[in-house]
Order: sequence, then structure tokens, then C-alpha cells
Amino acid sequence: MTGSGGGQTIDSMVTTDLLEHELLRGGHRITEPRRRLLSSIQAMGDHFTAEGLAAASPGVGRATVFRTLKLLQEVEAVCQVVLDDGTLQYRLTPNNAGHHHHIVCSRCGAVNDFASCDIQGLLAELARRTGYDIETHRLEVYGRCSECREELGRA
Ligand SMILES: [Zn+2]
Ligand SMILES: [Zn+2]
Ligand SMILES: [Zn+2]
Repeated sequence: MTGSGGGQTIDSMVTTDLLEHELLRGGHRITEPRRRLLSSIQAMGDHFTAEGLAAASPGVGRATVFRTLKLLQEVEAVCQVVLDDGTLQYRLTPNNAGHHHHIVCSRCGAVNDFASCDIQGLLAELARRTGYDIETHRLEVYGRCSECREELGRA
């Protein structure tokens, strides 16, 4: 799945400079391989796989690819998206998005973010019932985007 939905809006205009800034702010150095990865990420746009990033960055070792992705997640410049087939993708986080979730098109792979997260009651109930100290959660919603619905309707 390439995830190129055609004409989908990219709501996160993230530049290499911004990614570098986030890394520096997190106390990380910008090495040459990292710089190369950041420009690959920028070129790949809305979302990408680790494999795709490695392929787009010849000369950068796989360990560096994964370590850099992890760092970018730590500084909240990049987040993980799980597609409905279990494929893991990475996505640039819109500036200051904070805690958020994704709604993913199961046909073209388009991803949109949403920040409303009204599940505190559920989590509290779950913690009470299971005795867990709940640290985090992940929520992805799947469906057909409006462009795909339109296309399918025309067919
Ligand atoms: Zn996200
Ligand atoms: Zn779609
Ligand atoms: Zn949430």
C-alpha cells in the first residue's frame, strides 16, 4: 500500500528545519546520517514506512533509521499509525498536536488526526476493574475517506 490517495491534503507542513529543531530541543545531535533521513522524510510527505525511509536514504544503516525514528517519536515530531492490516507507518506530527488519534482510510491509506479523546471514564473504569496503572493508550479508527466513497460511488 503506497497510501497515495491523490489530492489528499497534507495538514502538516513540516520542514527539515523544524525536525532538526525538535531534535536539538530534545538534546539530540544532528549527525550527517540524521540530516539525510530528515530530508528523506520531508520528501516522502504525509506518511511513510521504515522500509521506505531506509530505501530512500542510501548509505544510512537500518539501525540508524530505526533509532532516528524512535528519537523523532520521543520529541513528538513523528507518530506511529497502524493501518487496518497491521502495517506500521510513521507520520509527521502536526506542530504541537499533543495527544491525538488517527482516522485511517482502509482503501487508500489516507490519514487524518483527531484530538478529541473522551475516554477518561472508560480508562478509569478499566483501571478500577483490572487494577492496572494505565500509562497510555492507542486508538485508530478505520473507514472509507470521502474521496474513496466518491470514487466508489462513480464506479
Ligand atoms: Zn499522529
Ligand atoms: Zn480513501
Ligand atoms: Zn486518547
